[in-house]
Amino acid sequence: MSVLIVGTTALDSIKTPKAENPRLLGGSASHAAVAASFFAPVNLVGGVGEDFPKKYVELYRRHKIDLQGLQTLPGKTFHWSGEYEVNMNNRRTLATDLGVIETYSPVVPKAYQKSPFVLLANIAPALQSRVLDQISRPKFVVADSMDLWLNIALADLLKLLKRVDGFVLNDSEAQLLTKEDNIFNALKKIHQLGPKYVIIKQGSHGSILSSPKGLFICPAYPLKKVVDPTGAGDSFVGGMMGYLASARGSVDANIRRAMVYGSVTASFCCEGFGLNTTTKTKRAQINQRVKELEKLTKF
Ligand code: AMP
Repeated sequence: MSVLIVGTTALDSIKTPKAENPRLLGGSASHAAVAASFFAPVNLVGGVGEDFPKKYVELYRRHKIDLQGLQTLPGKTFHWSGEYEVNMNNRRTLATDLGVIETYSPVVPKAYQKSPFVLLANIAPALQSRVLDQISRPKFVVADSMDLWLNIALADLLKLLKRVDGFVLNDSEAQLLTKEDNIFNALKKIHQLGPKYVIIKQGSHGSILSSPKGLFICPAYPLKKVVDPTGAGDSFVGGMMGYLASARGSVDANIRRAMVYGSVTASFCCEGFGLNTTTKTKRAQINQRVKELEKLTKF
């Protein structure tokens, strides 16, 4: 089954203590779509400007990502730049140039309207809702977000949360949303906002799922060297949704394993700038790391 992914299709300029890389392919939808493409057919909905490099369109194509929903609009592509501190855990946004995203309204092609799995990757929550307005009831809808929307578009986000099955956020966002320090109390409060499946990401410490079947603690793959963690969260949720779309059986039966596949896909993302390593990764390497994690967590 296919996954419909909407989010930002961006150019990212990333600075780490070791290197600087301008205008890489980035954006929440790009990272999520490439990650999901290891497992299932992906339908991408996004908007880019006239300056979007052809080589990036080719890269999407190499991953067999369907581009009927990618609009080229007059103006510049969304551009984000960020800088990491020495420990690579703290990131500072240096600039966000919205470009075409400022007036973008997602259009879902007819062929995508019955996609069973829908990932509303990070973009303004009002735009995420507009995608749901255009599709028939999918099997499983997950939304991602970021602190920016919690701060400037909370009402839109709360409306969206009533319409999704799952919500993925990181621990500091969960604290900001619920005013709860304790992660388990935060999970409970987020369920009360609508989603039945809530995943709180904890960076290199993995993630926690709370679902109708209870809690699951998902490990992160133990990486010795992180080059650039940009897009790791998007790769995690993209990999998870791709795996779910590819697996037989119910979401409840598959979601734990799907999270582990997402976690491993995100580990490859962290090993290179932007999508550089993810795009060179083979499915067999993902399977190998999943096996390693299985051994590491068995007791
Ligand atoms: P992550 O590291 O998982 O938080 O995702 C980083 C990606 O989010 C980068 O590729 C950025 O292009 C994208 N991004 C940054 N700011 C925004 C924003 N305001 N809305 C949507 N996507 C963004």
